[in-house]
Amino acid sequence: RKGCAIVTGASSGLGLATAKALSETGKWHVIMACRDFLKAEKAAKSVGMPKENYTIMHLDLASLDSVRQFVDNFRRSGRALDVLVANAAVYQPTAKEPSFTAEGFELSVGTNHLGHFLLSRLLLDDLKQSDYPSKRLIIVGSITGNTNTLAGNVPPKANLGDLRGMAGGLNGINSSAMIDGGEFDGAKAYKDSKVCNMLTMQEFHRRYHEETGITFASLYPGCIATTGLFREHIPLFRLLFPPFQKYITKGYVSETESGKRLAQVVSDPSLTKSGVYWSWNKDSASFENQLSEEASDAQKARKVWEVSEKLVGLA
Ligand code: NDP
Repeated sequence: RKGCAIVTGASSGLGLATAKALSETGKWHVIMACRDFLKAEKAAKSVGMPKENYTIMHLDLASLDSVRQFVDNFRRSGRALDVLVANAAVYQPTAKEPSFTAEGFELSVGTNHLGHFLLSRLLLDDLKQSDYPSKRLIIVGSITGNTNTLAGNVPPKANLGDLRGMAGGLNGINSSAMIDGGEFDGAKAYKDSKVCNMLTMQEFHRRYHEETGITFASLYPGCIATTGLFREHIPLFRLLFPPFQKYITKGYVSETESGKRLAQVVSDPSLTKSGVYWSWNKDSASFENQLSEEASDAQKARKVWEVSEKLVGLA
């Protein structure tokens, strides 16, 4: 049978390119888990995805009710789940004030981390039940949360501190909207959310890899300077960022190429190692990359896991 992969945020950028790459192999059925059904349908058609190889299902990661509803709908579809790709993200680098999810969590961490945390925890059971030979849970990370890299050292740097804001609910009322308890900063909130993504992948690996055989992985797909991620940035930035990445940092990667990379992490028989953060070199060959000290701190990973469980109502 075909493999079945859920890809969140498959309506644009990396998620769409990945969905396209997988659907074209004919070996995968892709569940495009998207908040905007019409946009997703148009996107799938515009890139020419074979229609028998995908299904669009509604998922708004900024609402935990929607996450639970999505899981119910998916289960009702009767499909087995072989791979889950947590890809969707919001980035609000110019926001002066925080915005919030349905449950009142700061939007970037609430969507990118907490929504995906609940989704992955609930769907772990479905992955366990699948009889697919190589089951995987992939959480898209980023270089920007990694302070052991040049890009990760551009201020404001990611820093989860002692998690006091997160423990307080990230609601901006009786707790800070930021994980470390500091002043709101949209760019930092995004980077912090990516650190949570990378820590969550490792904690999944520690807790469940041996028992389930599921591969847990994260990746940095390269700088895809043209995606919608930068939609809220100032126009001058959006104009200069792609050529800057292309010619100066040389970290630039096209959406198509980034989609092939993520599709590789989904299905390549040689990328089955669990607990790994994949990156690609200049020749587009994959290698196991090192995470920064904070993004590989086992104690912090456990703490993020435990606090997140409380916030999403699993503990
Ligand atoms: P895009 O903005 O193009 O795609 C983000 C996707 O997430 C969109 O499909 C968007 O939906 C979806 N999304 C946002 N909020 C929600 C929500 N509440 N519920 C469901 N879906 C939502 O960005 P990219 O493709 O660049 O980003 C994809 C991933 O790649 C992210 O995890 C990002 O951190 C990571 N990444 C990107 C890099 C880059 O250079 N671009 C570099 C490193 C990592 P909609 O279409 O409706 O807006």
